[in-house]
Amino acid sequence: MKSKLDYGGEMMNWIERVKENVLPVSNEKYNIRKALDEWVYEGNMYDVEVADEICELCDHPNIRYQFEIVNQLNNNALLIGSECIIRFKISVIDKSGKKLSFDEAKKKVTKDKSRLVTEAKEKSVLNTLVVLAGIDHNFNILNFIEYFKERKAFTPNQLALLIWRLERANIDFKKSHFKLTIKRNREKEQLLQFEDWKLNRIWSCLSNSQKQFVIQNKNK
Ligand SMILES: [Zn+2]
Repeated sequence: MKSKLDYGGEMMNWIERVKENVLPVSNEKYNIRKALDEWVYEGNMYDVEVADEICELCDHPNIRYQFEIVNQLNNNALLIGSECIIRFKISVIDKSGKKLSFDEAKKKVTKDKSRLVTEAKEKSVLNTLVVLAGIDHNFNILNFIEYFKERKAFTPNQLALLIWRLERANIDFKKSHFKLTIKRNREKEQLLQFEDWKLNRIWSCLSNSQKQFVIQNKNK
């Protein structure tokens, strides 16, 4: 087993690493393509929260989102980076057990990854709220958490208040993870009534279409 430090760019080494990793846990012991064809991705994936894992197929470091592939002949499992599913043409099986075409497989892997990323952002928002509640005792965290769990976003008023409190408490947080919702008319009106300084405060929370909406409708 090679260490993380041996990670180099040479193609030969790379294939050798894959061979070293996959042949011992496959039934096929010589032909790398035959061995890889024993494996499938069925939708099991994990966010380990810190980008610190190594792809168990190619040894690539700094993996945060692990995708599980399973050997259909012996039930062994490997946790690998999503790119490797595509790169090594690992079979992808959908919920009904159907094997997807290469293009469909690519789409599913991309979609699964983006679901993990979205969930990770939601988790980071909730964690930030908990940190804020620990510092700012006038902050009614339960209302915000309940609202966020239901809508995955905040109203303009909630967001402006939150960002203000977070900045005042000097909390390190990712503004872009805090999403705005203006699906309801009163939320749209709320946003359009914001003064510029208030709008500036939450601007990086807005999606592109929300920004367009403001630019086209403000001061009318
Ligand atoms: Zn890999």
